[in-house]
Order: sequence, then C-alpha cells, then structure tokens
Amino acid sequence: MPESRAIVIFTDLDGTLLDHDTYSWEDARPALDRVNLLSIPLIAVSSKTLAELEHINQNAELFDGLIAENGGIVSLKSAMEQHGPSSETIDMVREQIRSAIHVPLRSFRTVEPEIIAAETGLSLDDAIRAGQRHCSDPLIWQPSAQDVRIARTIAEQKGLNLVKGGRFHTICGPSNKGHAMKRMLERLAVFYRDMSGKPVKRFTTIALGDSPNDIPMLAEADFAVQIPTKNRGRKAPLLEHSNLRLAPYPGPAGWNVALNEILDEITNTNKNSEVLHG
Ligand SMILES: [Mg+2]
Repeated sequence: MPESRAIVIFTDLDGTLLDHDTYSWEDARPALDRVNLLSIPLIAVSSKTLAELEHINQNAELFDGLIAENGGIVSLKSAMEQHGPSSETIDMVREQIRSAIHVPLRSFRTVEPEIIAAETGLSLDDAIRAGQRHCSDPLIWQPSAQDVRIARTIAEQKGLNLVKGGRFHTICGPSNKGHAMKRMLERLAVFYRDMSGKPVKRFTTIALGDSPNDIPMLAEADFAVQIPTKNRGRKAPLLEHSNLRLAPYPGPAGWNVALNEILDEITNTNKNSEVLHG
C-alpha cells in the first residue's frame, strides 16, 4: 500500500466551494463526503468575518479550522488568534483618515447593522455577523480620487493597506491567506497524528481558490487548484506553480472534480471512497 499521508485542505469560499450566486456547496458534496470519510482536516480561508464563518459551520460542520478576514484571524478548536493589526490600530487609522478627507466617512466597525444591511443587501442577522470585524474595516463613503490617495497614504504610513474589493475600500493589515495557512499548519501539528500515532511533521497541502487574494495561499500549497470564475471564465493562471491545475467548472462542481482527482492520485482510495488494495 502507498504510505499514508497527513493531508490538509485549505479552501476559499465565495466562488470556490460556494457557488457565486446561490452560495450552495451541494455540487461539492461527493468530494466533501470523501474528505470527511478520510478524516482530512478541511480549513475555510475567507475574507468573511469569524462570526460569518462560525455561522456557516454551525449549521454544516464542514470545517475543522477557520481563517477569517483574509488571513487576519486563525481559529482552531475554538481558540482564536489575531494575526492582523489590532482593532485599536484599525480604529486609529480610520479616524486619522476621517479628519484628513473631504467627505463623510463611516465604516462596518462604526455603523449600526441596519446600515450594513442596506449597503450590502444582507439580512439583518447576516449584517450583524459581517460587522463583527477584528482587524479589517470596509469603509462606507463616496470618495474622490484624491480622498482615496490621502486615505491610502495614511494607512501605509501606519503599516496598513487600503484594498479595493468588489464594492468597498477596506482598511486591513499586511497579513494574507498564505501567512495564515502556515500558522494554521503549525497549530494543526499539535493535534494531528499520523497513522502510526506519531505527531505529523509535514502535511501534504491542497489549496483551492478563484481570486487574486487566494494567490499567497495557492503559492504555499503542494497541490494548487484554480477554480474558474463563473461569469468571466478566467482561464489564465493566477500564478506560476509547479503543481497548479485549473478546475473544469466554476464553483463547487469544479471543486468536486479537481479535489477528487488529487485524492485519487495521493491517497489509496478512489472517488467512491473505496480503499484500493494492492
Ligand atoms: Mg473567492
């Protein structure tokens, strides 16, 4: 039999494990069941807040560990570490930006959840969870180009970044999904044993993602899977990686096929989770 390996899977959520439009992971169910049967730790890696990830996991129990706020928060077995900037630093920088720019400035950390709901279209309960941010803060403002330049300069002077996501400029730290992945592996090594009961020295890592903010995580992984973007059908590789594969479909359907292929190659099981002898 091939030697047993301690495998860990790191996955982005939106557009990767979760369908871009419906947020369903149902098309990934066969591979998820296989991962569960093989007792392979599955780690969620997202720009969502820890409260949002815990809510998803409370219902589904999909994940063994959670990496939130784009790598700023690492949570394993209910113990949370903040690797991003302190909340005080985020607030201080936001207040400096507020007094330097020429338009009103509010943010997810400062407004009532009703305003987050109105800005995002989230339900009130989801907006409450989206507002529970520790080390990043999406801004609610209508800036001029000059306001953005001023804000970016202030953030960078304090060692932070101002990143434009889909809709919002977000004040955040230099932490990323790749740093957080390394830290999660250190913490997993405390808990996990190989088949012979020895502590795991090195994990074989698989990472799946669809966006530029997934690149640091994909770069760290032994096996990297790029999930194509649903509406744009991105085909160009996100990064150079000796072991990058492009999933055949967007979202959870592509997640399912690509992960099953890798597990076929590196475990002694097939996609029906039957152990192959020989
Ligand atoms: Mg994504």
